[in-house]
Amino acid sequence: MDGGEETSPGGPGDPVQPDGIIGWVKGRAEGPLLLCVGGLHGNEPAGVRALESVVERVRERRRVLAGDFVAVTGNLRALSAGRRFMAYDLNRAWTPARLLVQRSVGVSPNGRAPAPEDAEVARMLDILHAVSVRRRGPVYVLDIHTTSGGGGAFTTAADTRRHKDFAMAIPAPLVLRLDEHLEGTLTSHLARLGYTAAVFECGQHQEAESQVRAACAIWLAIRAAGLIEDAQVPEARQGWTALEEAYRRLPRILEMKYRHPVTKTDRYRTRPGFRNFQWVRVGDVIGDDRRGEVVVPASGRVLMPLYQEQGEDGFFVVRDIKTRADQDAAAGQGGAAAAPGANG
Ligand SMILES: [Zn+2]
Repeated sequence: MDGGEETSPGGPGDPVQPDGIIGWVKGRAEGPLLLCVGGLHGNEPAGVRALESVVERVRERRRVLAGDFVAVTGNLRALSAGRRFMAYDLNRAWTPARLLVQRSVGVSPNGRAPAPEDAEVARMLDILHAVSVRRRGPVYVLDIHTTSGGGGAFTTAADTRRHKDFAMAIPAPLVLRLDEHLEGTLTSHLARLGYTAAVFECGQHQEAESQVRAACAIWLAIRAAGLIEDAQVPEARQGWTALEEAYRRLPRILEMKYRHPVTKTDRYRTRPGFRNFQWVRVGDVIGDDRRGEVVVPASGRVLMPLYQEQGEDGFFVVRDIKTRADQDAAAGQGGAAAAPGANG
């Protein structure tokens, strides 16, 4: 990030440099900046791999790129260790109070010895500072994750127009109001900065297709943010078709209804076989903890059932608020900014 025309850290075989920039492609013309983050959770490498695969292909189109494409790795230390996090969850660290302490004293917000994630936050704040200084237009953010359970991929975004429109450029179910159940997410911090942000949960951690879906979403975000015109980015059309076909039987928009919080001492375990968007009814037994059976308190569809050691969310319940048919009926006014050429 030396202010040169184009920052291209990493050589063949070593694309991830210590500062975590996978690639920063500066387009010839001015325009928006798209910041893509992968691996904010260290056991979710699919987004990182997808960004590594896309960045060189974006660089080849630098002459037709308006603005900047910035690909960043999240929790470097946790990725190396293959863990969700080392000391604390890097996607719960972005509360205003916590960031204020981190900035002012540069130590752990708890006053304890610095945790590995304190250094990760500091490093990412440096990158975000570079974004704010070097941007030549509005900033869009795509934060890429995977889940421990299987089932459909989905996007999440804050329930306001610009975030929703950006998320809807990816034709997977959009889950609203998740941000109201989680404190300190990176996208909530970036939304407060005025950036337009969406999360893409691209599949199960180890599923090979997760990386493919993530790449589709990155190209769709590039097009939706306006970095490259539709005609120059056939990958976005192909990505739209692939995801639309995969998820057309799922609702277009859902709303978070319930979060089951868990702590380490709960020893919560989801019973085998639950998948994203599977229907559940009040009273269904979904898991067990130290107190016994855990039942679903509200009917709906289950989301992100926990099948890993680390994590503070046992499962979520969501409900449909817009079907594909509703969406198709509303189409025509280009509502959700389904992106130019979206049906191509
Ligand atoms: Zn994650």
